[in-house]
Amino acid sequence: MARIDLNHIRHAYGANPKSDKDYALREVHHSFDDGGAYALLGPSGCGKTTLLNIISGLLHASHGQLLFDGKDVTRLSTQERNIAQVFQFPVIYDTMTVYDNLAFPLRNRGVAEADVDRKVRETLDMIDLASWAKRKARGLTADQKQKISLGRGLVRSDVNAILFDEPLTVIDPHMKWVLRSQLKQLHRRFGYTMIYVTHDQTEALTFAEKVVVMYDGEIVQIGTPAELFERPKHTFVGYFIGSPGMNVMPVSVEGNRARLGGQVIDLPGSPKAEGNEIELGIRPEYVRLGAAGMPVTVRKVEDIGRHKVVRASLEGREIAAILGEDDQVPADARVTFDPAGINLYDKSWRVEMGA
Ligand code: ATP
Repeated sequence: MARIDLNHIRHAYGANPKSDKDYALREVHHSFDDGGAYALLGPSGCGKTTLLNIISGLLHASHGQLLFDGKDVTRLSTQERNIAQVFQFPVIYDTMTVYDNLAFPLRNRGVAEADVDRKVRETLDMIDLASWAKRKARGLTADQKQKISLGRGLVRSDVNAILFDEPLTVIDPHMKWVLRSQLKQLHRRFGYTMIYVTHDQTEALTFAEKVVVMYDGEIVQIGTPAELFERPKHTFVGYFIGSPGMNVMPVSVEGNRARLGGQVIDLPGSPKAEGNEIELGIRPEYVRLGAAGMPVTVRKVEDIGRHKVVRASLEGREIAAILGEDDQVPADARVTFDPAGINLYDKSWRVEMGA
């Protein structure tokens, strides 16, 4: 497997890009370590598939350089890059048996038949299709066909990386969990470099060691699931990860105090930020409801089993708080912010400024 370096990658689909808006990828500069399990996470249209296809060679970037283990592969074809890619929908040979579908990429590269047999059987077990080996792919369900696609991606261990583009979309929810944990085990066992595209935060956080969050053609943060949760570097990351996402509100900061409308919030430490163009971010998990603090009007309480989500209005804007299932919502509710959960962001750039 290989370390992958993306050096200042930009990509425009149109012929004459005039401004940043015309670029699907604006400035991607990042390295994927050899043997790392990464998720590319972001909303629809943020550029995840474009980036994946640039790594595999299905697309050639308009600008920038791509290195595998230090070797420039920017101009190489998909075949020459030696990458396995699994797509959202099955890419298989309908007229071949399940076994031959998996054997094909190995035979194609001249692997000895005994090794083909061993690898194919191992992979069939992993994707739970061993008993279907002799069946033609044509007659299988969409679910099973997608598992063959996954198998075709996993069967070769000589590739530089395995790329997955929302591979579990058509798989039923229970099987999704099973396959995801098998992918994780595989990664632990063989140390493959894996990059997994998804717009689903649960999928990203459970699969990956490192999550690469993309927004509007750029990478906005790379971190472990815990880092993204505790210290979102960008308001988008705070909002996109978490359920509900982080509360964000405009404040003015002076010294270690923030002013939100008529309210004053004490800040921990000495913030780098000062002035009016500041946003304060706090996750619902760090908003405390009680008898003291800033007055709020409770709008809605959603009981979702193990906890409650309270939606309230604070200084005219909606704020979410999470309470334990047995906690009561006081009639005259007030809120305080746990200082440990306060993040400050520059309003124009929306990047973290410490708190
Ligand atoms: P999704 O999760 O919906 O697949 P994504 O994050 O993978 O989204 P991309 O498919 O990479 O995003 O698209 C990034 C941007 O590039 C979008 O604005 C999209 O409309 C545009 N785009 C993607 N493919 C093409 C294409 N073949 N021609 C022109 N524009 C494209």
